[in-house]
Parts: sequence; C-alpha cells; structure tokens
Amino acid sequence: RFITFEGGEGVGKSTQVKRLLANLANVSVDAVRTREPGGTPKAEAIRSFILQGRSEAWGAGAEAVLFAAARYDHVTRLIAPNLAKGTWVISDRFCDSTRAYQGLTGGVDSKLIDALEDLALDGHTPDLTIVLDMDPETAFKRVAERAIEDGLALTGDRFEKEELDWHKRLRDSFLDIARNNTDRCVVLSANQAEESLEREIWNTVQSRFPE
Ligand code: C5P
Repeated sequence: RFITFEGGEGVGKSTQVKRLLANLANVSVDAVRTREPGGTPKAEAIRSFILQGRSEAWGAGAEAVLFAAARYDHVTRLIAPNLAKGTWVISDRFCDSTRAYQGLTGGVDSKLIDALEDLALDGHTPDLTIVLDMDPETAFKRVAERAIEDGLALTGDRFEKEELDWHKRLRDSFLDIARNNTDRCVVLSANQAEESLEREIWNTVQSRFPE
C-alpha cells in the first residue's frame, strides 16, 4: 500500500506520518517512511539545490521539472521496490504538492503538470492520500511557535515572506485536488488535537485497507 500525506506548511504532516508508522508497527505491518521533495540521496540533492537557492528562485515551471526528476528517482529506487516486496510506503508529500505549489498556486500549466506526473509516477499512483487541512493563520502561528521553541529564525520556507494570501491559495489548491480525486483523497481537519487526528487517520487507513 502506498499512502501519501499532503497539505500546506505547519499543518503537522510529519508528526502524523510518524504516528501512522507507529500504529502500523503495532499491528505488525512493514512500512517505510519517506518524504518529498527528496526521499533518496539524489532526490534529496535536488531538494537542497532548489530550496537553498530560493532567493534566486527558479521559475515554478523549472521547479516542477526538477521535482519530477527527483520524484522519478524516488519512485524507481525507493517506492516501487518496497511496494513490490509488500512493504507499505508512507510519504510526507508527493505529486499533489507539485500540482498545488507549482501548478495551481504557482501558475504552471496543468498539461505540463499532468505530463510530468505521468512520467515521474511510472504507474505508482498513491492508494490513499490524506490531505491535512488548516486555515493558514493557525498554521502560521504553529510554525512561528515551533521556530521560537527551537530557537530558530523563520528561514527557508515560504512563511518568511508572510504571504498569507499565497497560503490561502495553496490551501484551496489542495482542496481542489482532493475534490477532483475523491477515489484516493480524504480531507481531514488538522485543527484538532494531535491524538484525535491520529485516531481519525488510523480509522481511515483501517477502513480503506481492512485486510
Ligand atoms: O514539507 P516540507 O515542509 O518539508 O517542505 C519543504 C519546503 O518545500 C516547504 O517550505 C515548501 O514550501 C517547499 N515545497 C515547494 N514545492 C513543492 C514541495 C515543497 O515549494 N512541490
């Protein structure tokens, strides 16, 4: 089984991915945790190349193409081999992030996004995509609090610019994607306690894959 988590920044994807892995381990399901952009050494190299150089930004189209190259490496070297041996793969972001960030929000033509997705996925569409939804004001507060707790400045992500409107468009983009892919996407509110969201996710996974 291939499960992806999607959503804007600060919605708590990483925490929930870890909690799902723990729940799967409890019922003795073999699973690997991975992430995008990245997931393999070469794909992580493309991730740092793009994200560290954000000040001299690539255009959204070139970003989409580079992320597709990273995704192809991730799919062929990590995702496909694990699925082939029956190991579940849980990814923190996947193709819907490119469609939301570079496509719907970034303005890249959906035909290019479709073509890149087709190439990079190599047939490996997620079985289930959990879209964590939260209003950007709340998400921003969470990101800011976390940065203060960690003693870090808010650098390296889009909140640097505090572009609230941009984050609202991003949120709508993920909701659009979910509406157009109801067969695999489930939208859950991330505006609730971590434990209760964890239970909702676990119930969703168990009802989708009862075996
Ligand atoms: O999910 P995570 O917070 O690790 O993402 C790292 C950064 O990558 C985020 O700041 C996000 O803005 C950016 N990103 C992007 N385009 C994507 C995926 C992620 O700009 N397709």
